[in-house]
Amino acid sequence: MPDAVSNRRTFAIISHPDAGKTTLTEKLLLQGGAIHLAGEVKARGQARRARSDWMKIEQQRGISVTSSVMTFERDGITFNLLDTPGHEDFSEDTYRTLTAVDSAIMVLDAAAGIEPQTLKLFEVCRLRSVPIITLINKIDREGRDPFELLDEIADKLALDVSPMSWPVGMGGLFEGVFDFESGELRLPEGPAREFLGKIVKTTGAEDPVLADYLSADGVARVAEEGLLGREGYAPFDFEAYRNGDLTPVYFGSALKNFGVEEIIDAIARYAPPPRPQPAQDGEIGPERDEVTGFIFKVQANMDPNHRDRIAFMRMVSGTFKRGMKLTPSGLGKPIAVHSPIMFFAQDREIADTAEAGDIIGIPNHGTLRVGDSLSEKNEVRFTGLPNFAPEILRRVQLRDPTKTKQLRKALDDLSEEGVIQVFYPEIGAQWIIGVVGQLQLEVLIARLEAEYKVEAGLEASPFATARWITGSDAALADFEQFNRANLARDRDNDLVFMAKSPWDVNYQQEKNPELTFSATKER
Ligand code: GDP
Repeated sequence: MPDAVSNRRTFAIISHPDAGKTTLTEKLLLQGGAIHLAGEVKARGQARRARSDWMKIEQQRGISVTSSVMTFERDGITFNLLDTPGHEDFSEDTYRTLTAVDSAIMVLDAAAGIEPQTLKLFEVCRLRSVPIITLINKIDREGRDPFELLDEIADKLALDVSPMSWPVGMGGLFEGVFDFESGELRLPEGPAREFLGKIVKTTGAEDPVLADYLSADGVARVAEEGLLGREGYAPFDFEAYRNGDLTPVYFGSALKNFGVEEIIDAIARYAPPPRPQPAQDGEIGPERDEVTGFIFKVQANMDPNHRDRIAFMRMVSGTFKRGMKLTPSGLGKPIAVHSPIMFFAQDREIADTAEAGDIIGIPNHGTLRVGDSLSEKNEVRFTGLPNFAPEILRRVQLRDPTKTKQLRKALDDLSEEGVIQVFYPEIGAQWIIGVVGQLQLEVLIARLEAEYKVEAGLEASPFATARWITGSDAALADFEQFNRANLARDRDNDLVFMAKSPWDVNYQQEKNPELTFSATKER
């Protein structure tokens, strides 16, 4: 693998809201020299917290677009940090972004441990064996016992844990962080008790020099508790980490700069370079000469005056050069990529070249869709970009019936972006939209108005969930004949069973064993 590729790390941070993702992002970027960013990232965090207000959603969306991919460099390593939307509601965008990373950082609040959102995101990572490095954050505050936290990760995620560092007390008793491997003790300084670079080198957890810097309790926390922790859990195993079976765990405080350097170093040392991606004819690795990639996200109307649309492509192989012609699988004829965008935080920069692992933004007018594969020869089809069965279904009610066309266009656009899914019933004209999180509904209504000038309302739908149905043509035709009232087409014209309850799904599955009712659809 050429250095340009082996030195790339494309990753995301997964966490429950408020665990410290924004703060860590900001600190990682500062370490990487992208100092001007700090305020931007913060602004996004604040926008998110006031999310009931549409303007704020819009603001957040705007900012999170320009910072969708944050690229920074340190010690010859290029880091591509992909932002996952931070709100509590779960959107497909988040899932899909995780299909474009090679590894993830899991941030936990030391007082809260594993929270629901962490768990969901972790499950998505597990599906793809994405290796995970853990940061237990906020140890400058009262937190839970380190053993309890480690046990919880191991139990709830069914993952081996390997403590790489140890907190010397938490909250009011916090005295620093001890790193097992390097034997370095990082100490707080100044009135804010933050890490400003003060490191004591030791020969290990039992080095008497620790007593010069720590209280007697602090020394015991390293020499007794710490060693017990280090020996009581799995030793760090590179292969197990890379397979997604073990997570190295660091303790820190993003706010006070503890654990930040350690996390960057861990990504640089352990996290995988661009990984091969699953495709129809086997995996495609970064060593392939041909430029290949897939679209994992589409963002429309970034600039309200231009109706432009950016498709985010994860490069899987080859060296992309500006102006190159690539063929999208959905289109079949090549497009020239003249002005690709590299996202160096809030500045959109025109990229000249990009390597496997990089993300480029391709401006287009609707030719590129989520799930599309792009390649020079149009022979590659990446798989594994899923659609998820919506958990909330609503009927769309148009206030002005003359705007049917606009509505259809808007729903098609927004489903392409992954904001919503849209289902066109086989009988009747009321379109149904599906989402996995409530916030998506708010965004839908607001964007219909702001971007398409369509006033619409949502009303209850008789359906609770949807399943994609596959099977032989004969079996499908048979099923269709008797269930037309419960069938719809998605925007790819694939057949979907609209179920009144989960029980309904089971019932139909049992009654029609020759058909498959699937909660996800791979494109
Ligand atoms: P996000 O929702 O995961 O992006 O979390 P934020 O980074 O926005 O952090 C949520 C809140 O926790 C903010 O008020 C942060 O200042 C605070 N916070 C983040 N990291 C730390 C930490 O290490 N220690 C303490 N005490 N507070 C933190």
